[in-house]
Amino acid sequence: MVCTYCGGETKVTNSRHQKKSNQVWRRRQCLACGATFSTSEAVDYELAWLVSKGGKALRPFSRDKLFLSLYDSCAHRKTALSDARGLTETVISKLTGYLSNGTLQAGDIARAAQVALNRFDKAASVHYRARHP
Ligand SMILES: [Zn+2]
Repeated sequence: MVCTYCGGETKVTNSRHQKKSNQVWRRRQCLACGATFSTSEAVDYELAWLVSKGGKALRPFSRDKLFLSLYDSCAHRKTALSDARGLTETVISKLTGYLSNGTLQAGDIARAAQVALNRFDKAASVHYRARHP
């Protein structure tokens, strides 16, 4: 990876695996200008998972769509953005248990989201259920 400031070569100075989100965080330093910045490596779920919904053609899993539905349900909260970010990680970590040949059922995604929201915020849970019956 090149430096975000000057385009020079960089080296990794620190690296941590974040178990909950299954990501690798890295601290990098530019060999040319000395600047430091962080990167994170994560699974590209859009390329890894497919979603099946009512016999229609399989579609790629959309992390953005999941995030937006959770954000929408948490909109009444002041911390909706960070809440939805955390909930998205939680739901995705649960979804691996529903995978079959790399494919998820749309209903299982909604069920996992519902379970996470129910534990987190009852009003958000009710809002989500109304939108995803
Ligand atoms: Zn640089």
